[in-house]
Amino acid sequence: MADVFTKSQRSMVMARIRGRDNESTEMRVASILRAGKVTGWRRHSLMFGKPDFVFQKARVALFVDGCFWHGCPRCYQEPKSSAAFWRAKVQRNMLRDWEVSRQLRKRGWKIVRVWECQLKTPVRFLNRLRAASSK
Ligand SMILES: [Zn+2]
Repeated sequence: MADVFTKSQRSMVMARIRGRDNESTEMRVASILRAGKVTGWRRHSLMFGKPDFVFQKARVALFVDGCFWHGCPRCYQEPKSSAAFWRAKVQRNMLRDWEVSRQLRKRGWKIVRVWECQLKTPVRFLNRLRAASSK
């Protein structure tokens, strides 16, 4: 099926969806961290790969991946229109995620990636994070 948006319309729509999506997910993570009394993090690091949260001392980079944008194996559902476009887009994101993780690991960082949907079980998420931090 043909893409119904022009290029600039499309990037506008995407920026909007992405902005809102990411913001609320990150806020949720921040409140889970606070509730779990996890300290030593900051948001919006400008370091390579732009992790959503960075634990400088523990050298943990935390990425919160939106299930749609990053192709969650449990949740991702291909949109009915412009399927090829979205598939390519999500695949590019996944490749970039993989490359970013690889590069950061090479620089001595531990990587935690959490899917948006995994935030529904915050205790499990916190345990994973603590395990990574104590390695
Ligand atoms: Zn998911």
